[in-house]
Amino acid sequence: MQFLDMKAPYLELKDELDAAYQRFMNSGWYVLGPEAENFEKIWADFCGTKYCVGVSNGLDALCLGLEAGGVKPGDEVIVQSNTYIATWLAISQVGAVPVPVEPSWKTFSIDPDRIEAAITPKTTAIAVVHLYGTPADMDPIMKIAEKHHLFVLEDNAQSQGAIYHGKRTGHLGHAAAFSFYPAKNIGAFGEAGGVTTDDSEIADRIKVLRNYGSRVKYHNEVKGYNRRIDALQAAFLAVKTPHLDDWNARRRQVAKLYFEGLSDIPQIILPQSKLGDSVWHQFIIRVKNRDAVQQKLKELGIPTMIHYPIPPHLSEAYADMGFKRGDFPIAEEMADTFLSLPIGPHMPESDVQRVIVSLRQVLNS
Ligand SMILES: *Cc1c(COP(=O)(O)O)cnc(C)c1O
Repeated sequence: MQFLDMKAPYLELKDELDAAYQRFMNSGWYVLGPEAENFEKIWADFCGTKYCVGVSNGLDALCLGLEAGGVKPGDEVIVQSNTYIATWLAISQVGAVPVPVEPSWKTFSIDPDRIEAAITPKTTAIAVVHLYGTPADMDPIMKIAEKHHLFVLEDNAQSQGAIYHGKRTGHLGHAAAFSFYPAKNIGAFGEAGGVTTDDSEIADRIKVLRNYGSRVKYHNEVKGYNRRIDALQAAFLAVKTPHLDDWNARRRQVAKLYFEGLSDIPQIILPQSKLGDSVWHQFIIRVKNRDAVQQKLKELGIPTMIHYPIPPHLSEAYADMGFKRGDFPIAEEMADTFLSLPIGPHMPESDVQRVIVSLRQVLNS
């Protein structure tokens, strides 16, 4: 059994993807151009936003989103304590300071009730992560942001296609950063990312920044980067986008089987997200003696993962900030007890049942 079948999306769409490759190779145009623009339009339409700017990867999308949103060196940016470290790294890379706020157990994303206590005169932005497929509770977050004039960047690397109060994630803050890393709900066959927004100035700034700070070749307005989306990946993503809702529905079906098969096991705490609210990037259970359970599952041939074993504040990379164990107990408990079960749009039902049976066996022994 695989944790996630990476090749299955290719096999499912082989003819269309191979055709896109042939078209791209024969076009003679290999950087930005029509393939990139076509995908940007398709992705903006999918999210419901006015603009999408394709960029190199998710981390660069976060950095560009923050920079274009006006975050400056020395600013404080509020971010949840339990995210993948990329969200923190982006804040650091624009010279700002990550200010951790604990998540809620309900969404696993930032707890809106804890945000205001973390705001100081230096705070200019909130980076909200829709973690594991479940949207953060955006309405109260946007209210707080409005009151304090803060820029809100969504990190939507894990919840592509999710819907919150009738709108897609990626269309809930002032701008949203996407990763199309192959293992995400929609992934490229390599590296890619994007930023969506309704704000024409933000979209324009990112277009300039991703391309050496220039609009017109060799006329550089600002000190930019090379963070353009790979045009071949854009062509592949254009083929995949119309299938995302279906793939998310298939992930939801796996989640449904897990809920049905695991809900009566007392040692397991299941996610609180409603089936339809999440696009189930990960299916996270909480168990005591997590490491032993994971090892025993491995012996039965069941692959699992831990997202994530070390919260950013305890990571060696942030040793300079002087955080210690106990500073963010919710994030730490999540890191100590979370276990991600295999899930994906191409996971056979027989594999899901094998995971359920194996978990029962391990917890009863
Ligand atoms: C994957 C991921 C990123 C980074 O994306 P890359 O394309 O790998 O740079 C950022 N944030 C979160 C929450 C992610 O899961």
